[in-house]
Amino acid sequence: MFQEPGVCFYCCCQCSTTLAFTNHLVSKDIVKEAAILTDVQNVTAAGPYQIDRNNLVADVTCNGCNSLLGWKYVRVPKKNYAVQPRRFLLQLNKLLMWDGKNMLYADTRMVTFHQIPNARFFLCRQCNTHIALNEDFMIRIPDIMINAGIFEEAVNVDVAGKAHYRMQCTDTVADVNCSGCRKLLGWKYIEVPKEETIFLKTGTFLLHLNMLLKWNGTNMQCADYTWTC
Ligand SMILES: [Zn+2]
Ligand SMILES: [Zn+2]
Repeated sequence: MFQEPGVCFYCCCQCSTTLAFTNHLVSKDIVKEAAILTDVQNVTAAGPYQIDRNNLVADVTCNGCNSLLGWKYVRVPKKNYAVQPRRFLLQLNKLLMWDGKNMLYADTRMVTFHQIPNARFFLCRQCNTHIALNEDFMIRIPDIMINAGIFEEAVNVDVAGKAHYRMQCTDTVADVNCSGCRKLLGWKYIEVPKEETIFLKTGTFLLHLNMLLKWNGTNMQCADYTWTC
């Protein structure tokens, strides 16, 4: 893997050995401060096996420097969306992330909302990074083809710099990517020259609902299907 623009990957923080493309990220385990990935290269998974919850796991070490990075799931009696056999769990504090432009700490603290019964918020569908509170959701765009909502505020997102501003009709916008997995989630309105409506104004975010999940207080749903807030 090369440090090219637009190519995003994780590498070992000790020795810079490249380990995984960020699009192999399934989920971040916020409690364990770890990334769950479908595919990791340049590592060795070996016993002795250990038990995490009821799962059998094998230690994973970096081939470059031999440091312990996490584990590989060997046997998973109760699979879920993220945890499945042959997947890897790597500690974020052992990784650096090349985001296409810069080398960053992969464990850079992200904002996390509390997943408690009366909290309602939106998450990235790809990596479960927390993106916006329900109270920042202003309106669903009436155009069903766009399938997006306008949000007053968003967290854990990267907004493209000035060189990448572009025009969307008469508005100036900047692309917005998830900080966790770099997926394009929508755009931010940089300048809205026409008469601003109460919703469509400078500084708001348009986020595609089919890229988001919503924690509705009791369970996780696809954000494009939940219309009772
Ligand atoms: Zn290493
Ligand atoms: Zn994401």
